[in-house]
Amino acid sequence: MHRDTRVVHAGFHTNREPGPFLTGPQFSSTFTSPGDPASNALTYGRFHNPTWTAWESALGSLEGGEVVAYASGMAAVSALLGVTLRPGNVVVLPADCYYTVRRLGAGWLDSMGVTARIAQPGQELSMLEGATLLWIETPSNPQLNVTDVRALAAAAHEQGTLVAVDNSTATPYLQQPLALGADFVVASDTKGISGHSDLILGHVATKDLAKVEALRTWRTQHGAIPGPMEVWLAHRSLPTLPLRMTRQCASAQAIAEFLASRPDVDGVFYPGLPQHPGHAVARAQMQGFGSVLSFDLRTRVRAESFLAALTLVREATSFGGVHSMAERRARWGGDAISEGFIRFSVGCEAVEDVRADVQQALDAARGA
Ligand SMILES: *Cc1c(COP(=O)(O)O)cnc(C)c1O
Repeated sequence: MHRDTRVVHAGFHTNREPGPFLTGPQFSSTFTSPGDPASNALTYGRFHNPTWTAWESALGSLEGGEVVAYASGMAAVSALLGVTLRPGNVVVLPADCYYTVRRLGAGWLDSMGVTARIAQPGQELSMLEGATLLWIETPSNPQLNVTDVRALAAAAHEQGTLVAVDNSTATPYLQQPLALGADFVVASDTKGISGHSDLILGHVATKDLAKVEALRTWRTQHGAIPGPMEVWLAHRSLPTLPLRMTRQCASAQAIAEFLASRPDVDGVFYPGLPQHPGHAVARAQMQGFGSVLSFDLRTRVRAESFLAALTLVREATSFGGVHSMAERRARWGGDAISEGFIRFSVGCEAVEDVRADVQQALDAARGA
């Protein structure tokens, strides 16, 4: 079956099962469960929930592994770091990975006796010695650097280092890191996979069944459980992922090309541009270049003038949703980017309207 067809049906009941296509959210915190807990399929809402199970099986079929869902992307990140690292271990984190992940390295992991080595893009190999875990984020947020997962995973495995890939920007529709050799996928499902800017979720995927058990135990014991309503909303949104992503990738390509043609825009970062240093690798390991691009307007004043002049595109953080949004990323701190750096998430609007808005806002900001 075509992968688009698989996504439309993933985790839904089949055409042979009378009843709803997708069972509604299961809201029980507790379940009638007499006698021996082991003789009951359902006991307590922190341990399991049928709404999670359907979503996890859908995501698992896209990722090519078993999935454990969490309350947020960061809950998934923390669970994965927590079950793979022990005091004395070393984790290699990319300098351009999601800034809160690096903050966990300097804060929580450090306090647990785990050393986080920060690798500049392309320097990961030289920092692997003795490392338990290599963290990859590709394309990275917000700089859209592309990392060759197959090559790095092979090199890491030679040294006995496990490999995790943060797949939030691509989603499993555009990139399947487990098939490229990664041991783990971690993702924020708050972003493009759910796509409607109405929920916070995350997940980890792996083929290692012992780790699946540890990841579930972590969720049960730390309590980072996803809400049934959020999970159901995400699952409800999954069948349109191919439609949304196809439109968003095509529009992001057009907006990136338009920005690259403007003399008043400095760098344009989008893996779909032939001049992007990661273009060839992205082409080989992705089935599309994604909905996120970034560009540089050099100064804070010009970036703020641009954002203030937008009439359709919202100034908001996050990305991957059906509504186009942009932000001056340096307003948060934490990333090595210029004060005029804009992260732009292209939504599902007609591309000519997005382009017209960007054009008039750039013109308005030119004098700033
Ligand atoms: C947003 C994001 C996260 C964190 O996800 P939350 O759902 O906000 O907790 C982690 N990694 C990347 C790459 C992200 O973009």
